[in-house]
This record gives sequence, C-alpha cells and structure tokens, in this order.
Amino acid sequence: MEYEAVIGLEVHAELATASKMFCGCAVVDSTQAAPNTYACPICAGLPGTLPVINAQAVNFALRVALALNCTIPPLNVFARKNYFYPDLPKGYQISQYELPLGVNGWLEIETSAGPRHVRIRRVHLEEDTGKLTHGGGETGDYSLVDLNRAGVPLLEIVTEPDLHSPEDVKAYGVQLRAVLRYLGVNAGDMEKGVIRFEPNISVRPLGSTELRTRTELKNLNSFRALERGTQYEITRQTAIWLAGGQVLQETRGWSEAEGRTLPQRGKEHAHDYRYFPEPDLPPLHLGPAQVAAVRAALPELPAARRARFERDYGLSRYDAEVLVEEPALADYYEQAVAAQPPEARQPKAVANWLTGELFRLLNESGQTLAAARVPPAHLAALATLVSTGVITSNTGKTVLETMFQTGRAPADLVAEQGLAQVSDTSAIEALAEAVIAAHPAELATYLAGKASVEQWFFGQVMRRLRGQGNPQVIRAALAAALARRQTGGP
Ligand code: ADP
Ligand code: MG
Ligand code: ZN
Repeated sequence: MEYEAVIGLEVHAELATASKMFCGCAVVDSTQAAPNTYACPICAGLPGTLPVINAQAVNFALRVALALNCTIPPLNVFARKNYFYPDLPKGYQISQYELPLGVNGWLEIETSAGPRHVRIRRVHLEEDTGKLTHGGGETGDYSLVDLNRAGVPLLEIVTEPDLHSPEDVKAYGVQLRAVLRYLGVNAGDMEKGVIRFEPNISVRPLGSTELRTRTELKNLNSFRALERGTQYEITRQTAIWLAGGQVLQETRGWSEAEGRTLPQRGKEHAHDYRYFPEPDLPPLHLGPAQVAAVRAALPELPAARRARFERDYGLSRYDAEVLVEEPALADYYEQAVAAQPPEARQPKAVANWLTGELFRLLNESGQTLAAARVPPAHLAALATLVSTGVITSNTGKTVLETMFQTGRAPADLVAEQGLAQVSDTSAIEALAEAVIAAHPAELATYLAGKASVEQWFFGQVMRRLRGQGNPQVIRAALAAALARRQTGGP
C-alpha cells in the first residue's frame, strides 16, 4: 500500500520591533548581547508590574496577517498559557488563544509540480521565551538561562494540513520568509533563530482523506533540518503503519548529528495549559480604519513582484522566483536593468550575468551581494558590452572577475587591457584568406570532403586575433572564402 504525507506547519517568527512585546526592554541580537542585560521586572512578571501592548508589534502582526490574506476579527484577546519551564520567567506566556489576530488566510507557494495554495489557519501574537544553554559536557550538569529574548514579540503562523512532502514544506518556508522580509518585520536570519519551524506530520493511505495521528517536530531552524526531519518522520511513520503498528501522538526533536528524530514528550493538550484571558491586558480592538490603513501601506509582495518580473522583463518563472526571494537582490537587479540605455536594454542578459557569474564569484568568496564591489551599473555595463559585441562572452567573464576584485568599471578595464572584440569585417576577411593561403595541405583535405577542417581554420584565425575575434564574423568570412575555392574561384 502507498502512503501519503499530511503536514501542517507552525512557524514562529520574531518581530523586529525596537522594544519587547509588553515592556520597554530593547530587542537585541541574541547572538551578540551579553546575557541577561536586557531584562526587567516586567519581563519576569514580578508582583506589582503590569504589561503594556507594543503598538508597533500589533502593526507588524497586522501587516503579516493581511499579506497572508487573513480575515482580521475586530476583537482580539490575549490569553495566559500556563506552564513551567526554566526559560519562562513568569511561569506563563502571554499568547492568544480563542480570539487570534488573523484567521482563514492563504499563501501561494511554488513547487516543481506548479503553484499551490496553502491555507493559513491562524496568525497570533505572543511573546518569546528566554534561551537555555546546556553545559557540562557528557554529564550535562548545568544549564544557563539568558532572558534577553524573553518577551520579544513573536508571531505564530499556523497552516491547515495542506502540505504533502518535504519539498512542499521547504517551498512554504522559503515563500513565507520572503514575505516577512518584504514586510520589513523579520530579517529572516534563520541561524539566529528568528524564524523557527514546527511541522506536524502524519501519513495516510494514498487516496484517503482521513487525518491520522500526528507527531510534532520542535524548533527546526534551518531549511535543511526542516526537509530532513520531515522526510525522516514520513519514512518512520510509514514503516510503523506498514508493520501493523500504531503511531503515537508526541512531540519529537530532530538530531542533526544522528540524522533522526527522537521522542521528547507526550503531546500536551490545550487544557493542560489552563488558558484564560490575560487579566492584566485590555482586549485589543482592531477597527476597520486601522486595518484599512495597514492594508493600504503594504509594499509590493514577492508573488506580485515575481509576476511583474516575468511580464516586464520577459524572465522565466524560475529566474524571476530566484531574483525576488530577497528584496535586496531584486532591488539590485532592477537598478542594473534601469542603468542600461533604453535602446540597449537586455533584462534577460542582466539576469544571467547576475545569477550565473556574479553568484558564482559570491559563492566562491563567501561574500554577500551588499558587500560586493560590483555595483548594479557596472554589471549592467558589462552585460551591454557583451550583448553589443564589444567583447566576447568569455572575455566578459574574465572582466567580471577583475571588476569583482578591484571595483573598477568594465569599460575602463576593456580599454586599458585592449580586450575589445575584433569585429572589423574586412580585416577578418583578409585574415581568413591569408590563413587559407598559408595552409594548402589543409585546404586540399577540406576540398577532398573533410568538412571538419573548417573548424580548424576557425581556430587558426581566432588564435591570430588572440581570442578576441567576433566568432560570427570569422565564421562568415571563412565560409565565404572556402565556398569560393569549392567552386574553383580565386
Ligand atoms: P496544536 O495547537 O495542539 O499544536 P492544532 O490543531 O492547532 O494543534 O494543529 C497544529 C498544526 O497541526 C496545524 O498546522 C494543523 O494543520 C496540523 N495538523 C493537525 N492535525 C494534523 C494531522 N493529523 N496531520 C498533520 N498535521 C496536522
Ligand atoms: Mg502545536
Ligand atoms: Zn523587560
């Protein structure tokens, strides 16, 4: 029997506000700041303190919910989720439960089988926990807690179980991260843990619509872990059902080192958390005027930008998709195209130079596009030099390497190093004649029927032009000169 995976994703994204969700503590880079230097009595929920809702966090959350096509209920309520854990100083997390900020949205994702519609069940606001570091080696005899992250605004985005493979899950993650970046609410640096994925996974016989028991994989913070962990669970559960066993509902962790998932705890249920409306915060009323204002201020989103790139620049869906993933990359591309003279605009060529050669140089050197010494106008000029035949495409690659190392403009390098392609038709015709005349034996072989000698002549002419001859012009000149000999001409 064949099995199909059924997957719903919960994503936690920190919101890049200046201060925390309910107090004035600054939101800092948790990989940089000294531990516990940004925490206050409100973060710790000490008696006598009161939380205050961060308006910017609400604005950011609304941006995301609207970008994900959610409905915004006019009444929002914060709720206390009670549980004990050392990274949770209050003993409860302020979250949302029955009345979240956004419901019933959707996001379109790109898969190799075409675009897919993923329903979003809910988007709600909550606060992050602190961070634990376990130490003491094998014996694991101590843990350290850093509360800088406790209380940072966190958005939870939950899909319906509409995903069916590791590829789907990754495509959703990539698309969602792009949306968050475009909205300017999250930098998308997964290695810093600002986006964390939790796939809920079950499998069922292919063709059935039942929902079987699921497991939840906690806190994956790379696309690689997301894909590998998901695949592992699908394989594991399929094997259990095939062997006549029963999948247990539980929370599991992914061990990158061992390449497998491990049980963490039995599934807790909502009633275990004793949710109740947060008594220290008023309900949040999000009126139509506020929602309309946020909606009106939404920027162009990745999907719209991709469609525009396909339409206005004639790019393939794939190329457009690659270019729009990061706003800075898409901006760079558009600046480069705009820098070309309107009569010589070559959007496809610019895309090829950018995603081909420039990406290769960035990868090899480990540099980012922002730090690279090739500004958009230089890349555009290079593409124009090649497309107008001033230099060959091979010379272009060498020139780009020098541009990348020196930051200099391509036209200067071409002039200085005498790299311009030779396209002078009469000079090339004369050279073709001279080469043929100098090689009577090869000519005889050619005339006796060995057509491949023409390519050898091509190589000879190109060599004399130090590789800078225009290939089309050389080919035409040789073809004409050889044809004259075929017909017994001069
Ligand atoms: P909880 O809040 O307890 O984690 P939810 O019902 O909110 O549970 O579901 C969390 C996620 O699990 C959602 O993304 C949902 O689509 C997904 N999900 C629910 N049931 C299944 C199932 N049987 N198989 C796979 N995913 C599921
Ligand atoms: Mg869950
Ligand atoms: Zn604080």
